[in-house]
Amino acid sequence: MNQQIKNILKSLEIYHPLQSGYRNILFKIKREYYRMLFSKYKGKGLECNFCGHQYLKFVDDYPEPENQQALSISNVVAGYGKNILCPFCLSTARERLVMAILKTKIDISNKNILHLSPEKNIFNFLKDRSKLVTADLFPGYYKNIDKDIRKENATLLSFENDYFDLVIANHILEHIPDDADAMKEIFRVLKRGGVAILQVPYSESIAETLETPLMDNPKLQSALYGQRDHVRIYELNDYINRLLKTGFTVSCKKYEMLKPFYIYAIQTDEVFLEIKKPD
Ligand SMILES: [Zn+2]
Repeated sequence: MNQQIKNILKSLEIYHPLQSGYRNILFKIKREYYRMLFSKYKGKGLECNFCGHQYLKFVDDYPEPENQQALSISNVVAGYGKNILCPFCLSTARERLVMAILKTKIDISNKNILHLSPEKNIFNFLKDRSKLVTADLFPGYYKNIDKDIRKENATLLSFENDYFDLVIANHILEHIPDDADAMKEIFRVLKRGGVAILQVPYSESIAETLETPLMDNPKLQSALYGQRDHVRIYELNDYINRLLKTGFTVSCKKYEMLKPFYIYAIQTDEVFLEIKKPD
């Protein structure tokens, strides 16, 4: 779409709602398409922890990396690859990892939860089990998921201190120029002992985090960071250090420890960070 038209639609605050409607239509078409191919995938060995269906394999092709070359150069673990998409409910490997954690490691019942840039399947799981608030800087984009989503800037949240038991911002911080401020705000609104799920794309093979936080050049960002709206690729230890500096405790769950979840076709090369605000 022409940038000028985009800007006009944005100024009228209809650009993101239009995108939301478009995404909703795409989601439905995609769901019907894969349901036609369902028999090709079903079988034993793997299971979707959202819809419960059992599979020989999941769909490989979604979400497609925008710039695979940029990700490959730095060996970025970003949630792409084999066995990504559930052919029935369209859950992704990223969502199934979070779901496995939510079902086994975190008490969510009746808890205050903030879900930033909400993902459809996780939202549907949480909405009737907890006191859930969803928010995004461009809430219109997510209206197809939650019509009550709030407008919030992650670097300047409107919530009071020590309010949430859990904050989920799954693959968000790599989009935010001032990630330190977002980390501070998430820390502030969490209760003592509260948990944050803040998975990001990361690399263990680069010397330091690659970033140009204030870059406003989608083409170059795509070439450098693999996606036009990303502003960095985190080096894993540096990412953990940034969280520690904010005041969180962080425990890195490596591959072996996540083995019980492999049945859900999570990415076997992805670590999970247990992030807590100390008691
Ligand atoms: Zn499913």
